Amino acid sequence: MTLSSSNLTTWLPELIYRNHAFQPGHALVCDDTTSVASIIPANEVENAVRLHDRALLPGLINAHSHAFQRVIRGRTESRTANTTDSFWTWREMMYSAANRLTPEDIYDAARMAFLEMALSGITAVGEFHYLHYGADGRPYNDPNLLAKEVVRAAQDVGLRIALLRVAYARSGYETAPNPQQNRFIEKDPETYLRNFEQLSKDLGRTNNSAHVTAWVGIAPHSVRAVPLDYLRQVIQFAAERQLPVHMHLAEQQAEVSACIKEYGRSPVALLATEGLLSERFTGVHAIHVTPKAIAMLSDARAMVCACPTTERNLGDGIVPVDNFFKQGVRVALGTDSHAEIDLLEDARELEYHLRLQKLERAVLGSTEDSGMSAIAARLFASATVSGAESIDAPGGTLEPGRPADFFTVDLNDPSIAGASEDDLLSSIVFGLSKTAVKDVVVGGKRIVADGRHAQQEEIIERFKKLQKKLWG
Ligand SMILES: [Zn+2]
Repeated sequence: MTLSSSNLTTWLPELIYRNHAFQPGHALVCDDTTSVASIIPANEVENAVRLHDRALLPGLINAHSHAFQRVIRGRTESRTANTTDSFWTWREMMYSAANRLTPEDIYDAARMAFLEMALSGITAVGEFHYLHYGADGRPYNDPNLLAKEVVRAAQDVGLRIALLRVAYARSGYETAPNPQQNRFIEKDPETYLRNFEQLSKDLGRTNNSAHVTAWVGIAPHSVRAVPLDYLRQVIQFAAERQLPVHMHLAEQQAEVSACIKEYGRSPVALLATEGLLSERFTGVHAIHVTPKAIAMLSDARAMVCACPTTERNLGDGIVPVDNFFKQGVRVALGTDSHAEIDLLEDARELEYHLRLQKLERAVLGSTEDSGMSAIAARLFASATVSGAESIDAPGGTLEPGRPADFFTVDLNDPSIAGASEDDLLSSIVFGLSKTAVKDVVVGGKRIVADGRHAQQEEIIERFKKLQKKLWG
């Protein structure tokens, strides 16, 4: 890396993506505080890191992850019984893995997931973290030990992380306690908030600046797992501190029916009528929602996080993104269970699931759109700008003052070779192979160079050992 005398690092790719288009002949100048200082014409550049045949794009933001679930990839893809396999049977298998992980295992699993994220162009992650206690339900000396292991993993890989600390009080309405959930449960909001505040303090959460690498958010697990009074208290706490709030919402029809039984209202209607929605609120999944519920989310300026690669894997259903977009609801993306980690696959699935459902093409386009990349631009914004807004991350776009978080793709990669400037974004969003991702830079620091991470071998070796221990 070449530094000029003024301590600025200049990156000179073939193309830079900003303002919804690829611009040739420009360089990105980073200052020594890890932010973008300016974007200048290439002919004004003296010393630069040349990125030949590469296009540079803002880093992807993964707004919903359960990092430890990386250990069950490929292990839940067969029938378990004569009855129907479903989200609920998958969940029991996931729990049995979760309950065998030591703090160190959680670090190793998370580091593997975050490595894979980095290699695919992700620069920040929202970790929806619900493992708090030992498998017997007893707290560790530090009640945030496991959250800190996950944060340490992200920082060792080099990603920014929003630790969305989960509140989990019960198995469900009129549902007997499930011992498999011992590690999640904080029975009352006082315990949850006390532990949350300690974590926030320990991480040294600051305001939304370009330099913040780890911060916190409030994450009531779902209307099923958190009763209304508890929910009110933690959301009130988030409101006072302007924290992001993430919550699983209407992922499964059974969750919606149980909520109607308990409260006489659907999950979205419950949150809306209780005044618990806000522009800091993100409903994760939001699949089984009526047009009225979509309007309620829109009225509150709340966001949605879709996780289509997980939702198709679990048989959850299809997120009605067309209606969310029509109502102006911003949609972020998450790799969630990590059945695979490829946020651009999640982006394209938003459109593809609707094509299969409606037997149409270009569902998310509109006749007012101009240019051939309009749908791709919309999907790419979900993977960047909306993700950053959802988890309160400082990135999302490349502008002066924003963090220098970006990735590059090889324009000669077979998956996108031959694309013109005009159709490059569509080629990337609809066709990019992860092997095309070459550089990943977070806060001006290159964490992936030429498609490799410096700790890659060690992280993979440790993860292989973990898998052997778990599964033999
Ligand atoms: Zn989830």
